[in-house]
Amino acid sequence: MKIFVINCGSSSIKYQLIDTENRETLCKGLVERIGAVTSIVKQEFKGEKPIKKTIALDNHAAALKTIMELLIAADNDYLHSLDEIEAVGHRVVHGGETFKDSVLIDEDVEEAIQAAFDIAPLHNPPNLQGIRAAKKHLPNVPHVAVFDTAFHHSIPQHAFLYGIPNRLYRRYKIRRYGFHGTSHYYVSRQYYKESGKSKDGTKIITCHLGNGGSITAIKDGLSIDTSMGFTPLEGLVMGTRSGDIDPSIMFYLIEKEELSLANVHALLNKHSGLLGLSGYAGDMRDLLEEAENGDRRCQEAIDVFCYRAKKYIGAYIAAMNGVDAIIFTGGIGENSSKIRELILKDMQYAGVKIDADRNATRGNTVISTNDSNVEVMVIPTNEELVIAIDSAKIALASKQTPWA
Ligand code: AMP
Repeated sequence: MKIFVINCGSSSIKYQLIDTENRETLCKGLVERIGAVTSIVKQEFKGEKPIKKTIALDNHAAALKTIMELLIAADNDYLHSLDEIEAVGHRVVHGGETFKDSVLIDEDVEEAIQAAFDIAPLHNPPNLQGIRAAKKHLPNVPHVAVFDTAFHHSIPQHAFLYGIPNRLYRRYKIRRYGFHGTSHYYVSRQYYKESGKSKDGTKIITCHLGNGGSITAIKDGLSIDTSMGFTPLEGLVMGTRSGDIDPSIMFYLIEKEELSLANVHALLNKHSGLLGLSGYAGDMRDLLEEAENGDRRCQEAIDVFCYRAKKYIGAYIAAMNGVDAIIFTGGIGENSSKIRELILKDMQYAGVKIDADRNATRGNTVISTNDSNVEVMVIPTNEELVIAIDSAKIALASKQTPWA
């Protein structure tokens, strides 16, 4: 089936056209700076020259209209009419406690996504805007929501409750949800496939290290704990997000620097993490380069990043009473042998042994030695493929059982 996958951010839309039969991406595109004076659209059909356009796009609806026009106008062997698109898959960041799986989008689902605006103010509003705009342009096909939180629904209560009054969980659903679920799910399934290991009885730790980052403990195929929490702010040190901090720091700063709530929000989400620590950049490539040139603060930022990741891996080895495999993915996890080396050094206690030559190899590969107790792998993620496959399944089922 040809499935159109959409990932709407506050000022961007990423999209892919995927053929689920052979798991092939037929077209990839990105619209950036929606709402700015000029927006940029980039699109590339498989085997064709990429195209780039600069155009004024006021909102997501206007951006999707342009995307639809570009899809049809482009020279390609794969899509000649929008009628060939059989379903649309939408990435939705927060499904709250309601959505344990992907779902066909109807009015009730839209309302539930809206109900989670409070707990995901940066993500769910643009996700819903994208859904509504896409439904206008492709009104006759099923639209499916695939949630970042869904894979983490198996996390048990002792791992999802915070140590705050239980009433706050009951009243406001304040708990750990976890994110990057489609990525953790995808790389764990690839691991079972590539290693020949069964889900049952296997303990894996998946490290999604990108601009945002999270680590998940997976036992018997199920997420049992993850580093992101109520929002994607908790856990690892990220590009511009702080990850774990002592909440009292905020009370102290609010008093000392007379910060507003909005200031605190921006401080922790946009000005912290690698960017805040280094005072230079939130992008790992830039930091590695400057650290190599002797910049002390860039090196410190890298050290804090790697130490935090190592601590989470250690915590999850303890939580699962061991680990069979550690998987790296995401822009940093897939591409930086240096960061993988720093995170994994001194883990003899767990029987982790890394082969330096294998670690230096690019792409999908095992990087541990043959006699390592723990298999360590790099597996490139493919969240869009998970969204496309789920959407195809749900679209097919909805045709067969229209009253479901
Ligand atoms: P993502 O959010 O998954 O696209 O990942 C973005 C992050 O990956 C940024 O911090 C990039 O600097 C980092 N990244 C991409 N390629 C490399 C590389 N070759 N070495 C180190 N970091 C990289």
